Amino acid sequence: MTDIKSMTLTELTDHIAGMGEPAFRARQLYQWMHAKCVSSLDDMTNIPKSLKARLRETEETNTDSSNSVDITCLKPIEVRQSADGTRKYLFELADSNLIESVLMRYKYGNTVCVSSQVGCRMGCRFCASTLGGLTRNLTPAEILDQIYRITNDINERISHIVVMGMGEPLDNYDNVIRFLNLIISEEGYNLSRRNITVSTCGLTGRIRDLADEGLGITLAISLHAPNDELRRTIMPIAEKYTIAEIAESAAYFFEKTGRRITFEYALSRGVNDTDECATELARLCRDLGAHVNLIPVNPVTERGYEPSGADRVSAFKNKLEKQGINVTIRRELGQDIDGACGQLRNRHGR
Ligand code: SAH
Repeated sequence: MTDIKSMTLTELTDHIAGMGEPAFRARQLYQWMHAKCVSSLDDMTNIPKSLKARLRETEETNTDSSNSVDITCLKPIEVRQSADGTRKYLFELADSNLIESVLMRYKYGNTVCVSSQVGCRMGCRFCASTLGGLTRNLTPAEILDQIYRITNDINERISHIVVMGMGEPLDNYDNVIRFLNLIISEEGYNLSRRNITVSTCGLTGRIRDLADEGLGITLAISLHAPNDELRRTIMPIAEKYTIAEIAESAAYFFEKTGRRITFEYALSRGVNDTDECATELARLCRDLGAHVNLIPVNPVTERGYEPSGADRVSAFKNKLEKQGINVTIRRELGQDIDGACGQLRNRHGR
């Protein structure tokens, strides 16, 4: 079984040549899938019927099982539109697993937040995506198709991608790297590498690997606490890697790529939002030249954490800024449509 949508143009060319078909068909297929974002072989008007039939025989389907076997294509089963323009998509995979993607509209363009796994095994205590553990990794085509289906839905190009949906992208490393290479490919969607952010809870070895890939993307690290003791109470992964180790790998990433790290920091009332926390965080950021992205934690019914109030958020921000740290507050888009990760899917119980 093959999955032609997860193949690079070179691999697809070999695959097509191996079928005894002319090599230029590979480029045509690639452009239909990745530049024109079609959802089926049927839409590829310049591909001969005979080749489509041969591809259907070998292609691994990720579409609804009642359809004929075709290229990977996600099925939107629920779309919610927020008053602020945010759209949240619940997609069904071929094996009937569900994932979420979110479209956010900013002045500078359309951003899509993609999922990288079905579920997650990192266990962060404030996060809804990890409640049922990890079901499986997404294939490169399944990550790509979140962007392609949304592009077609709104009939506009996506300019920015954040890999901040369900899952830990660096826990699905090979497929995520392949996804990144495909989405930036010039003959494909041709998305600017500078407009891609991958967010991790801090798998230090993989952060170094990612630096070595030379992709030119931005890295965000979900820190959420400025010291190991506190971090261990919020994020089980902190038992495995210390903040000192994270800082070392972040420094390596910066040194290798020249791109500054962003620390994600979700503020939770009385947990990690004190002035002392801000001072400790500032020290860490200063050494690395890192930015901080603050967000009041999104309350998830199953979790006990409460968001910090607006006053505390701005006091925390000021404290960081006084110490020379570059801080942004993430706008809380899509609150009225269960914007926080995993919430929509959880209500469907799959
Ligand atoms: N696993 C990756 C990417 C997915 S989570 C990571 O950990 O970075 C994307 C971001 O959303 C992370 O910063 C994560 O910590 C944050 N997040 C998860 N649940 C949240 C919640 N309830 N409120 C605020 N941020 C949350």
